[in-house]
Amino acid sequence: MLYKVLKKGGYKEFVTKLIADFEFIGPVKKDSATHDFVRINDFSKLDTNYKRTTIAPAKRVLYPPKETLIKYDVGEDIKISSINYDENEKILFGIDACDVNGLNFLDKFFSSDFIDEPYFLRRKKLIVIGLDRMPSETNFSLSMGKEYAKEGFDLFLTDLKDRYFVRVGSEKGNQILENYAITSIATDKDFKDYNKYMDDYRKSFKLKVDINNLYDNFEQIYSNDEFWKKIAKDCYSCGSCCLVCPTCFCFNVRDDMELNLKTGNKIREWDSCMIPDYGLVAGGHNFRPTRENRLKQRYRCKLKTFSDKFGTNACVGCGRCIEACLAKINIAEDINAVKKEVSL
Ligand code: SF4
Ligand code: SF4
Repeated sequence: MLYKVLKKGGYKEFVTKLIADFEFIGPVKKDSATHDFVRINDFSKLDTNYKRTTIAPAKRVLYPPKETLIKYDVGEDIKISSINYDENEKILFGIDACDVNGLNFLDKFFSSDFIDEPYFLRRKKLIVIGLDRMPSETNFSLSMGKEYAKEGFDLFLTDLKDRYFVRVGSEKGNQILENYAITSIATDKDFKDYNKYMDDYRKSFKLKVDINNLYDNFEQIYSNDEFWKKIAKDCYSCGSCCLVCPTCFCFNVRDDMELNLKTGNKIREWDSCMIPDYGLVAGGHNFRPTRENRLKQRYRCKLKTFSDKFGTNACVGCGRCIEACLAKINIAEDINAVKKEVSL
């Protein structure tokens, strides 16, 4: 990896040029507590001092909540026309390390059992410029080992007060720097200051979970119905936790037919394993009829299934589901509760 330095004085010009030449998506203040990632046409709208974002930006950009997969005509033959996903290059600016790790997880998921064409057509055209930031109170990504992104970005910036330490993650990232910024190669002093920033950053995580032994403890507790009833007793089955999560990928595909019953679209929409209908199958049987079944399954998917499949958890510890849950169900507390229950 290449390490460079961008002086603070050159930052505004760098970003302004990117905004002028690309579709640029970055954090904008939405209300007193929340930022949203939206298209930006003016540097003054960009606000990278954010603590909270709701729906994970990378997921929304690459895998929209609703999209048409194909169009079809039903005549004597069925004619299928595919959708042109050939979008422009976009820059996703200012996502933090755990969101880059969420993106890395989606990259693995959408290329494992099948290659998801719409996702990867967009992914190839997405330039990711990450930015280190201090964690929010609900962020426990340090405990999940996801507070630092090793890959999945083109550039990653760390604010060292008078300059940015820039990790160059791809040739495309290097080209962006060459074409749009004046940088220098990082010196020993830059590395020293970067290390200090990262040490302080890691010390600033307040929410911690004990993930050690969870892999085994989860199996031990999996059939303990009383434990799961207690954990899920307030769940409204609303699905918000899945919608905001940077790694949740479940979707439903449905037909949207015109009234002439000849033409239609196949639509893909986000789905949630926390909603009762998710487990409903033909004949009216529901294989996850209770909220404790569903919450247990969600946690297993996050904390065990993909540990087996990809060698990594499907939770990056961003804390969004904790903030989104009206019932105050808290995955971090529940991870710690598993260990406590097994140790009793
Ligand atoms: S855990 Fe919370 S956010 Fe998730 S479905 Fe239940 S009530 Fe909704
Ligand atoms: S499960 Fe919750 S904390 Fe973990 S990645 Fe998803 S939203 Fe973030």
